[in-house]
Amino acid sequence: MIKLKPSVEKLQAYFVNDIPYRVKLDANEGSNYLLKDGFKIDDFKPNLYPDSDSSILREKMAVYYGCKDENIMVGNGSSELINMVINAFCDKGDKVLSFVPSFSMYQTYCDLCGAEYVGIECEKDFSQNIDKLIAEAENINPKIVILCSPNNPTGYVTSRNEVMKLLDSVKNSLIILDEAYIDFSENSAADLIDRYENLVVMRTLSKAFGLAGLRVGAMIACSEMINYVWKVKVPYNLNILSQYAAETALENIHRVKDYIRQVKALRQELSNSLKELDFMVYDSGSNFIFVKPPVENLFEKLMGCGVLIRKFSYKGETYNRITVGTKEENSILIEEIKNIMEAENENR
Ligand code: PMP
Repeated sequence: MIKLKPSVEKLQAYFVNDIPYRVKLDANEGSNYLLKDGFKIDDFKPNLYPDSDSSILREKMAVYYGCKDENIMVGNGSSELINMVINAFCDKGDKVLSFVPSFSMYQTYCDLCGAEYVGIECEKDFSQNIDKLIAEAENINPKIVILCSPNNPTGYVTSRNEVMKLLDSVKNSLIILDEAYIDFSENSAADLIDRYENLVVMRTLSKAFGLAGLRVGAMIACSEMINYVWKVKVPYNLNILSQYAAETALENIHRVKDYIRQVKALRQELSNSLKELDFMVYDSGSNFIFVKPPVENLFEKLMGCGVLIRKFSYKGETYNRITVGTKEENSILIEEIKNIMEAENENR
């Protein structure tokens, strides 16, 4: 067998669990099926290549994101864009600084191009100490700093002031601000691209817009940065159906906003229910909740009842990340947790 390059050979392939389920609360997908009314095949021409520049989509995104279309590049999910930027800026041995725990794919994209991922531990309450990030950036001079806010998996939101403190302090690194979940929070920092030429903001339509299956993400930055990174964008990266669906979703932004309001209310309800069951619940600005459960092996036990959530091990402790589902899905989750806890008590 011909060998892969060493930095890639040591990687574990990413397989997504394909387990039969009743309730899926493990991947932070939207439960809003925004385009349930569908659209006609005549509305677009699948025999033709898509608009390589996604011009119409970028114009519509610009309205929602409050910038100009020249400040946007779109990709197959923000995953493609994060990978593209890390690849475009990092050579073997360059450093990428971020917090841990955070979105696990940052490490993978660094490994793919041989960059070194340096993770600073979050505080005990999973808050992200910006002063520590700045101090480490001064120490190791990373090519890129990645700040995920709201953070996945913890839900922690870094304030706009803290983001600005980072941008004012770290001028020699590219700053990627991953705002995949910001629609469920407040105060996007996307408008700061006009003030900081080293800022790249990542957004996605996979969460609040319920389009995870169509893979649409956006990178927002000053136009010089966009033109610069455009060099590594493959032509026609976003297919015609995804462009069309994303445009339609943006035309129906009121439905997205309604959905966001619902998720925020359901997040509060779910959080209260879990607290009543003695879960340690961390504040979340996202469409998921990070918890420390009062029972062992909750992930495995819920999987046995067809309820999928995520499990994280951190410093020898087990945590769970639970996507906020529909009212019905959340009730099933809570019911199953109660059953599990009752069974444990009976066995004591
Ligand atoms: N950033 C974060 C923090 C995420 O959690 C995810 C998806 N889980 C992504 C980026 C990528 O999302 P997508 O590629 O679907 O846009």
